Amino acid sequence: MKIILLGPPGAGKGTIAKALMQIDGSVQISTGDILRSAIAAGTDLGKQVEAVMASGDLVTDELIMDIMEQRLQEEDCKQGYLLDGFPRTIPQAEALKTLLAKLGEKLDCALELDLPREVIFDRLTTRRTCTSCGEIYNVKSKPPKVEGVCDVCGSAIVQRDDETVEAIENRLQVYNEQTAPLVEFYRKEGLLVSVPTSNLDQVLAAIKERLGN
Ligand code: ADP
Repeated sequence: MKIILLGPPGAGKGTIAKALMQIDGSVQISTGDILRSAIAAGTDLGKQVEAVMASGDLVTDELIMDIMEQRLQEEDCKQGYLLDGFPRTIPQAEALKTLLAKLGEKLDCALELDLPREVIFDRLTTRRTCTSCGEIYNVKSKPPKVEGVCDVCGSAIVQRDDETVEAIENRLQVYNEQTAPLVEFYRKEGLLVSVPTSNLDQVLAAIKERLGN
């Protein structure tokens, strides 16, 4: 599968991507995870993006396209990919279209998780993330077995810097202004599949219907 996951922060893109990966070996590519790993590793890239990310603003299109142009040509992408958090602006979507044409690849669909704002806000303020493997937890609905410790890899689980109320409000505003227009973009491209849920079974049914199997 070659799918773009669209939807506001907290809609469940990462969780859905991880579940879809299990189905056919497509790889999840999360630009947020790539950037957070760079920050954790203290690389030049990490230092460059740290402050912008903590505020909830977007890093530049140029930087993201440099990362993605390389990433999408790696071996594990041949099997398919689930793009989580990319593209996030119209210029990124245009650049992706050009890149895919160059690589001779076609997307299956752009899957929009269209959830109510209140659900999103509540989820984000209660979300916790593993500092090492990126596994997502929720203090209310999906707590780790041992408080503060990742079930998967044993590393520390934290609230992200950009999950303060102020940063969350900013991220939602940035989404509305810069990313929401992608819904129309992909509708016009004939690729949009929109679901009002992040329930895995319902999402899978919508994808199967679209892919015709
Ligand atoms: P979420 O979807 O939960 O908001 P992500 O993990 O996808 O979070 O992204 C976290 C942050 O990383 C964003 O707020 C932004 O600063 C940066 N980022 C991730 N992907 C992109 C992108 N495609 N373009 C610009 N900035 C990005």
